[in-house]
Amino acid sequence: MRLILLGPPGAGKGTQCKRIIDAYKIVHLSSGDILRGERAAGSELGRKAQSYMDSGGLVPDGIIIDMMVAAMKKASQGYVLDGFPRTVVQAEGLDAALAKAGEKIDAIVNLQVDDALILPRMTGRRSCPKCGAVYHIETLKPKVEGQCDKGCGALVQRADDKPEVVSTRLKTYHEQTAVVVGYYTKRGVKMINIDASQEISKVNRAVLKELESLK
Ligand SMILES: [Zn+2]
Repeated sequence: MRLILLGPPGAGKGTQCKRIIDAYKIVHLSSGDILRGERAAGSELGRKAQSYMDSGGLVPDGIIIDMMVAAMKKASQGYVLDGFPRTVVQAEGLDAALAKAGEKIDAIVNLQVDDALILPRMTGRRSCPKCGAVYHIETLKPKVEGQCDKGCGALVQRADDKPEVVSTRLKTYHEQTAVVVGYYTKRGVKMINIDASQEISKVNRAVLKELESLK
């Protein structure tokens, strides 16, 4: 099974991904993790990517494609692509590599949640800078407001959880997702749209049921 997983920040993509890879014994190929791994290992691709990042630029599509295709080749049992492809050039690169290997993407799992639901989920998060514990001002309150339960001291709102940052990330996500969805819809790839505003276990059942029907 070869899948592309789409989902905005705060939609529970990590949890759903874990359940899919466990159910089908396939691997999770996250472009962010793979890029970090290549950089940490100091590989040729990693060094190239680093030079673009050092100068404040985006890593070019060609490098991302080479990195992802190399990881896909090692995952003969199948995979869930996460964070890739994000552009038409990346999607074309992926298609070319799949065609060469005589493989194809079986489906795209598109987790959908209204921005209006995601914003309070993310902007309500408070984190402990000492132990890393995460709370929420509405749904997971600490025993004492603004204080970590483990006695570490004051909780903070991480930069990533600030409203303006969340809004920008969501806007970027929707722009990239529209491109990817448009590209694969034209090519007739199965699009599995899931309402991910429901509780996690319901979302998971809906995803697995759709994936079962692909067989
Ligand atoms: Zn703490």
